[in-house]
Amino acid sequence: MREGLAAGLSEVIADSSRVLTAPTVLERLSHDFYWYSPVLRPLLASKVGDVVVQPVSVAEVLAVLRSAGKHETPVTVRGAGTGNYGQCVPLESGIVLDLTLMDKLEEITPDGVAVCQPGLRLGVLETEARKQGWELRMYPSTLAKASVGGFLAGGSGGIGSVAHGALRDFDNVRAFEVVTMEEEPRVVLHEGAAVHEILHAWGTNGVRTRIWFALTPAVEWTQLTAAFDTYEQAFRFTESIAVDVAWTKRLATVFEWPIPSFFTPIKQVVRSGKALALIMIATTQAGALCAAAALAGGEVTFACAYQGPRTQPLLSDYTWNHTTLWAMKADAAYTYLQCGFSPTECEEQFRLLRERFGDEILFHIEFM
Ligand SMILES: Cc1cc2nc3c(=O)[nH]c(=O)nc-3n(C[C@H](O)[C@H](O)[C@H](O)COP(=O)(O)OP(=O)(O)OC[C@H]3O[C@@H](n4cnc5c(N)ncnc54)[C@H](O)[C@@H]3O)c2cc1C
Repeated sequence: MREGLAAGLSEVIADSSRVLTAPTVLERLSHDFYWYSPVLRPLLASKVGDVVVQPVSVAEVLAVLRSAGKHETPVTVRGAGTGNYGQCVPLESGIVLDLTLMDKLEEITPDGVAVCQPGLRLGVLETEARKQGWELRMYPSTLAKASVGGFLAGGSGGIGSVAHGALRDFDNVRAFEVVTMEEEPRVVLHEGAAVHEILHAWGTNGVRTRIWFALTPAVEWTQLTAAFDTYEQAFRFTESIAVDVAWTKRLATVFEWPIPSFFTPIKQVVRSGKALALIMIATTQAGALCAAAALAGGEVTFACAYQGPRTQPLLSDYTWNHTTLWAMKADAAYTYLQCGFSPTECEEQFRLLRERFGDEILFHIEFM
């Protein structure tokens, strides 16, 4: 089966070196960060595709899907494979369609929309956009590695969401060109409200081959951390920044102790036993934010300019779902449960959770 499938695909792919069957390659490109979940870990570890195909054009994507349709072969679409729910794992084997070679940034329009292929890395887009006075409205903490196509098919939001909401909000995604998954695949355009038929659909109804993703004017950012004696103090301070439109911010995060103790590479910003707030603020407001933190009882432990994805330390590497990664490095038994809280009743919700679960849970809050 495997050889026959690869041979058939080599006929429709211009260069057969982009049809991969080496067992180690199949193993690597059949998995993502599914192992974050103690439930998925035993279920998905042994799943593997029969062949990986790396198309470089819409014509090749069409040809692969046509062949798959004809032979009823399952297709699993893959970007950078950083999804953490097993969305890239080929449950029924078949073809893994790896889009990382379709990675062109075609243009940034004068009104700030990036037009690109799906395999473009978000970090590359952020860097290129900032050169032209724009930046991403939001990105996952996997910025350096993750692809635009994978983020829009499997992600939800991230750094920037405190100002711009989630991917589904505010026309953040303008249009998709999609190759449909049906017996005779078609190339269709989804724009306006029809974007939502494809957004966050995990590649189950089609393959995005071209994306129109809205940007925002670039801002000079400062990354800042402040330590507080209690979680409640850190939460209230960060919330006051997050909800006040007068502050221009890109990130507003709170960690209760001992989560900050997991961040070993940045231990200089951590204070033992204290909660940590992590904020990206417009550099013009950094001084005022330091003063506000001090007034709220915080100690500013770090402040430095953000200069794009290569900034070191890049504090977003500790936020969103990277926090779980640091926790699992400290103790592999940690996992996470993503919860939404009421903006008006969250403190009562926290209290009820503590009452019920005690020390079994730790709070990490991202404001959206
Ligand atoms: C440490 C860590 C931190 C993370 N932080 C965040 C975060 O802050 N916010 C967030 O939203 N997510 C986060 N994630 C999840 C994930 O990294 C992001 O959603 C990321 O954007 C996925 O991009 P990717 O290229 O790796 O996609 P992949 O994992 O390759 O794919 C994700 C999904 O998209 C589908 N897909 C990929 N390309 C296409 C395409 N062209 N057409 C159709 N379907 C396609 C795949 O089939 C899969 O279902 C995190 C994950 C980890 C491991």
